[in-house]
Amino acid sequence: MDKIDLEFVSKKTLANDTIEFLFKRPSNLEFIAGQHWVLTLKKDLVKSDERWNSRVLSFTTTSDNDFIWFATRMTGSWFKETLNTLNPWDKVEYEWPYWNLTLHKNSKKDAIFIIWWIGITPVISMIKDATNNNLEHKITLFFSNKSLENAPYQDDFIELEQKNKNFTFIQVLSHWSWSAKNFESGRMSKEIFEKYIKNKDNAIYYLSWPSPMVKAMREMLVNNLEIDEDTIKTEEFSGY
Ligand SMILES: Cc1cc2nc3c(=O)[nH]c(=O)nc-3n(C[C@H](O)[C@H](O)[C@H](O)COP(=O)(O)OP(=O)(O)OC[C@H]3O[C@@H](n4cnc5c(N)ncnc54)[C@H](O)[C@@H]3O)c2cc1C
Repeated sequence: MDKIDLEFVSKKTLANDTIEFLFKRPSNLEFIAGQHWVLTLKKDLVKSDERWNSRVLSFTTTSDNDFIWFATRMTGSWFKETLNTLNPWDKVEYEWPYWNLTLHKNSKKDAIFIIWWIGITPVISMIKDATNNNLEHKITLFFSNKSLENAPYQDDFIELEQKNKNFTFIQVLSHWSWSAKNFESGRMSKEIFEKYIKNKDNAIYYLSWPSPMVKAMREMLVNNLEIDEDTIKTEEFSGY
């Protein structure tokens, strides 16, 4: 399939240094919640380093929406600074996915997401999609961030928890926060996991973290919690 043109519409700040970009959805663009695609800046936007004007980005919207969003952590890279200067009607290019982190089909198996920071992008799409489609999966999200100010989508997850009786949201913050109401303090650990998960063997696990963290979380699940390695699905955000 050829590249698809996407027309930029607007953007909004989600958390510290985290911006979500909204594009018009072309009629021929189909996708499944959790997929990531390759976004390429067009040549006329390229100001420097023409060798590498593409990044892999995950959809943060659901598959039934008229618009599509991507969210990213602003790192100061040339690519992201250029993305941040887009004007309405500017176009970027998007290509079909190479891989998917999509929700398993068997709703009798629970879904346990252990996510850090910007790794949340495919997950917001999957949990919204499960809620909108009344899927029966029991879903638990452990979402780790340094502070509340760094945590995107927290209001969305609180709202989703109210809408979806099968969804449990656990905020894990490594820095103490006076403004956060319910959260686990510290880093994601075996102890936090065991406080909430009583049936660990009837679940599919999803890890979506910048790469070094995926390895650490996989080790915690396999070595400390004796989770079957075959039940762990991962998305590694290389480049962070
Ligand atoms: C499956 C998957 C899903 C992802 N989803 C998201 C998402 O939803 N949101 C998000 O923010 N990020 C996502 N990422 C990570 C994203 O693709 C970027 O790597 C990340 O955002 C960092 O980009 P940067 O421009 O800030 O950093 P940079 O360091 O500028 O670039 C990141 C990577 O691009 C390559 N690169 C940069 N410049 C060059 C060059 N001149 N020549 C060759 N290679 C170069 C390098 O491999 C580098 O490690 C995802 C990654 C994967 C693999």
